[in-house]
Amino acid sequence: MLVDLHCHSVYSDGELNVTQLIEKAEKNSLELFALTDHDCIDGVNKAIELAKTKQIKCIPGVEISINWKKKDIHIIGLNIDVDSKILAKKLAEQQRKRVTRAQKIASLLENYGVEQCLEKAQAHAQGSIITRPHFAKVLVDEAKVKDFGQAFKKYLARGKLAYVATDWMSIEEAIETIHQSGGSAVLAHPHRYDLSATKMKELITTFKELRGDGLEVVSGMTSKVQISQLNELCARYDLLASTGSDYHGPTLSKVDLGKQVLLPKSCKPIWEQWVN
Ligand code: AMP
Ligand code: MN
Ligand code: MN
Ligand code: MN
Repeated sequence: MLVDLHCHSVYSDGELNVTQLIEKAEKNSLELFALTDHDCIDGVNKAIELAKTKQIKCIPGVEISINWKKKDIHIIGLNIDVDSKILAKKLAEQQRKRVTRAQKIASLLENYGVEQCLEKAQAHAQGSIITRPHFAKVLVDEAKVKDFGQAFKKYLARGKLAYVATDWMSIEEAIETIHQSGGSAVLAHPHRYDLSATKMKELITTFKELRGDGLEVVSGMTSKVQISQLNELCARYDLLASTGSDYHGPTLSKVDLGKQVLLPKSCKPIWEQWVN
């Protein structure tokens, strides 16, 4: 079964709108798909509606930003109830934090000569939630850096010139919110946080103790070695496995929607509970 349970639309930092994403899902023969925008579910209903017309099953999803030990970590909620009041309230809080953070990032970047930075980033966000990649676009437009990678390396990544620490929800809150809205909690791309092996174990132990459900064993850029490590961690901690390209669009992502490598056969796929 061709599955992709992690991607982004223009409702967060993706380049494609929901219609374009579903068209791509069809073109790439996906059978199971989840839209997981950052701290936002505004595109989900439309994705479900359009997916139905293409015989693709769409699982409602979201990628929630959290803080854990001074790291910015992502927890994916899958099969959530998009009408959940608790989820709506928590995502609204995250979105307010994004607005405050954006104002602070903009004022830092103005010190480095980017005029009207907030307005320019908002223009890229087109009324949807504002993310660091929107600022990366401004930095590239203004020729402050040559590409996105440099924008993060010099200005936007943790500890860099325009990084603003944000008090996102805690890991407990994210897992609880996802469960209270009927969903399953998946630790997104565990290898992208620059954790030592000890810290990775600590994070996964905590995640499991807090009743987290699964690990994203395969992401867009995971290596074979990382996949087998994550597969072992799933077995050791009795966690389910998820897979997703983390597709952000044709110019941003090297791995196309649904084109991430297959999950190892020994994994227990998280989606088995949702398909018949
Ligand atoms: P935010 O949620 O607003 O803090 O933005 C985080 C997003 O920025 C991630 O989901 C990625 O899409 C993007 N990102 C983070 N680090 C990098 C990087 N080094 N290069 C390019 N994009 C990045
Ligand atoms: Mn992103
Ligand atoms: Mn992520
Ligand atoms: Mn993502």
